Amino acid sequence: MSKRSIITNEIRQYMELLFPISRSLTGIGNRKTLKILQDIIPLKIKEYPSGQEVYDWIIPKEWNIKDGWIKNSQGEKIVDFKKSNLHVVGYSQPVKGEFTFEELVSHLHYKENLPCAIPYRTSYYNDYWGFCVSHNDFKKYFREGEKYEVFIDSKLVDGSLSFGELLIAGRKKDEFLISTYICHPSLANDNLSSVVLTSFLAKKMLTMNLNYSYRIIFVPETIGAIAYCKNNEDMMKKIKAGIVVSCVGGPGNFSLKPSFEEKSFVDFAARKVLTASKQEFKEYEFVPQGSDERQYSSPGFRIPCVTICRDNYCEYDYYHTSLDNLDFVKAENIFKSLEIYLNLVKELDSLIFYERTELHCELQLGKRGLYPKIGAENRIDYEKIPWRSTELDALAWVLFYADGKTSLDQMIEKSRMKKTQILDVIKKLEEKKLLRKA
Ligand code: ZN
Repeated sequence: MSKRSIITNEIRQYMELLFPISRSLTGIGNRKTLKILQDIIPLKIKEYPSGQEVYDWIIPKEWNIKDGWIKNSQGEKIVDFKKSNLHVVGYSQPVKGEFTFEELVSHLHYKENLPCAIPYRTSYYNDYWGFCVSHNDFKKYFREGEKYEVFIDSKLVDGSLSFGELLIAGRKKDEFLISTYICHPSLANDNLSSVVLTSFLAKKMLTMNLNYSYRIIFVPETIGAIAYCKNNEDMMKKIKAGIVVSCVGGPGNFSLKPSFEEKSFVDFAARKVLTASKQEFKEYEFVPQGSDERQYSSPGFRIPCVTICRDNYCEYDYYHTSLDNLDFVKAENIFKSLEIYLNLVKELDSLIFYERTELHCELQLGKRGLYPKIGAENRIDYEKIPWRSTELDALAWVLFYADGKTSLDQMIEKSRMKKTQILDVIKKLEEKKLLRKA
């Protein structure tokens, strides 16, 4: 069997094993999921307590659910949590009693434009309970004037929010962040595909001789990322760039959600990898909505983060429904995404950054024999192509972008000069101790 089919089979097995587990912001299902991932990588499972203030948020109570159903007047179960964990609205409070249709209807959720699918709904920060049913079942089983027996066996108690963390140390202390979210129950593309991909990516990275260090985290979306930022604020402020892994197993095309900077080195690397893969891909414009880049790129952190999807969350009709299942998501698709993500890591890991030893203002090149003795002669002539031809031009480009944040590849692309010209100038500046590798 080829290495590819061995890994694809393993991916399939973990998808099947993890898919049925009920996950949410908190709870036993998340711990069970992280524990299974420990078979793949040496993940540390950590906890933040309920009630902890994390910036503008409070970590909620821990939610666990054992059962939930609705019975009709004949005593038949017409909705059953044990058949699909999407049937109960996430974070539903416990309930037991008899309800008329009229009382029950504001607690029922369905999706008319996808009548056979059970929608996925949550109500994390409200006192609420509810059920999700397919529109077909809603029409079949629920009638005005009827009475229904309702039961949700859930608990909301002071507990904790669980997350997984793996730090892979490279030769340099500079860190990249790789983050994915574990809070979705039985939904395959969004986001179990990414949980499994990130684990296999980390497994491979552990065998590599890496230049940079990598902080890999599995957190519940939003509150988990916020709690992580709050509890690791100093470290997070030093992260160079991030990858937020989301929706990587659908049958559709690849897409890139660029960082808020759109032209940062991580965007550049992601475009390069996608182009080299010869896979068709679409690039979205940056929008502030999305996944946990909302936290990592917020003004306090401003980490540029990219996401490469295969059926992006805004693209597929099955999003947040029971049809986002293991028929829709295939291990082969996750494997292809894994290859792309691995190439992205390799690309990031090979990046070189230069930084001037004096960052402020221009350097006085004249006193180092790098500037013509007679000034006021040169002017920028946009008409004369290429005007970016002299050593002085190369010096200007290199010194302008030697900020520790612009990669060498970007510097070459931005200057549109020959690589050799840029490298020659870098060598000269290094010899004169005006420049160093960042
Ligand atoms: Zn989602």
